Amino acid sequence: MTPDVETVVIGGGVVGLAVARALAEAGQEVVVLERHGAIGQETSSRSSEVIHAGLYYPPGSLKARLCVEGRRLLYAFAAENGVPHVRYGKLLVATTAEELPRLDALAATAIANGVTDLTRLSAEATRALEPDVACVGALLSPSTGVIDSHALMVALEGHVRAGAGNVVLNTEVVGLRAHHGDPFEIDIVSAGERATLTARNLVIAAGLGATRLGKMVAGRGYEPPETYPARGHYYTLEGARPPFRHLVYPLPHEAWLGIHLTLDVAGAPRFGPDLEWQDEASTVFDEADGTRRARFEKEIRRYWPALPADRLAPGYVGVRPKIYRSGEPAPDFAIHAVREHGIPHLVALYGIESPGLTSSLAIGAYVATRIGA
Ligand SMILES: Cc1cc2nc3c(=O)[nH]c(=O)nc-3n(C[C@H](O)[C@H](O)[C@H](O)COP(=O)(O)OP(=O)(O)OC[C@H]3O[C@@H](n4cnc5c(N)ncnc54)[C@H](O)[C@@H]3O)c2cc1C
Repeated sequence: MTPDVETVVIGGGVVGLAVARALAEAGQEVVVLERHGAIGQETSSRSSEVIHAGLYYPPGSLKARLCVEGRRLLYAFAAENGVPHVRYGKLLVATTAEELPRLDALAATAIANGVTDLTRLSAEATRALEPDVACVGALLSPSTGVIDSHALMVALEGHVRAGAGNVVLNTEVVGLRAHHGDPFEIDIVSAGERATLTARNLVIAAGLGATRLGKMVAGRGYEPPETYPARGHYYTLEGARPPFRHLVYPLPHEAWLGIHLTLDVAGAPRFGPDLEWQDEASTVFDEADGTRRARFEKEIRRYWPALPADRLAPGYVGVRPKIYRSGEPAPDFAIHAVREHGIPHLVALYGIESPGLTSSLAIGAYVATRIGA
């Protein structure tokens, strides 16, 4: 049977678009199906927009490899395509003497991951860079930056359309069937109309919706990972500019990076995200009777004691598509192809939380190498 389309990518977030761009540039006919009326309306537009250097992830993991490679590709793509980005650099600060050995451990992990530009700073050297930061020592990561994630997605969409690709909005995938040897059948509701499409290759890049879709094609002996949403709140700073030129991060708590200060490409500050596991994904900002703001103020004052009182204002909420439960160790990105699930021509992506934005272009290239079989 001749399929309608060579490759369908489900999901018009940064990862689906990056995958579609990689496939379109390799000459494939690609169609991205996105349920919302615009690209990037879920996790991809609710992040810190940080281009991570690759400090935190276990050496050899997909997270480490795709982050380091993705960072390199992303800076080059942003420069070539006029996507706003700023290489602010990041200070990872120890605020107590007990934390100092952890800075050294993170520096060792970073070097094992191929991050070669870190500098270990004393408290004095940190103060010389950022006089308002309180710490007993720090790591400076000059290759950490931020990017305008929406402009990135618009540029990726342009590349898809310029190749043999298309992005179809208002189109939800509601059913999937895999037939060995024959094309995938994809049931869609597009602008209220039901239809079925066929495709030779299928990529599930559906973020929080990936597990639901993966279960539709899962065969005997393979279960896709469950998705456990975990939201993160961001506060902005009202009526004041923080006196910082770098991003400032406390030491991480396992996989959570802590309440950090980032600047967007225009220099506007935001603090967050916190970590709250949910039963159902929700992007509602919950002030929690003022206790959330008080907790943020306390955390931020560990590294910025002069944070003015009552200046934090509710910003937005992003939801991480985690594939582990609270208290369990964080697994790697789950990018499953025939070797994992036994279905040729299918790549399904689960648990693409941070550093998914940084890694997006490298994920695109990686999926392109795994889709053929
Ligand atoms: C709070 C937070 C902070 C983060 N900070 C950073 C950071 O600083 N740096 C970094 O590198 N990464 C960061 N990340 C991670 C990064 O944002 C994600 O890894 C990335 O955006 C994931 O992109 P995606 O395309 O996989 O998912 P999404 O953006 O969620 O896209 C999936 C798309 O699939 C669509 N979809 C789902 N189901 C269907 C269906 N049935 N039919 C059609 N369409 C469907 C959805 O509508 C959605 O548009 C952060 C994430 C969060 C939550």
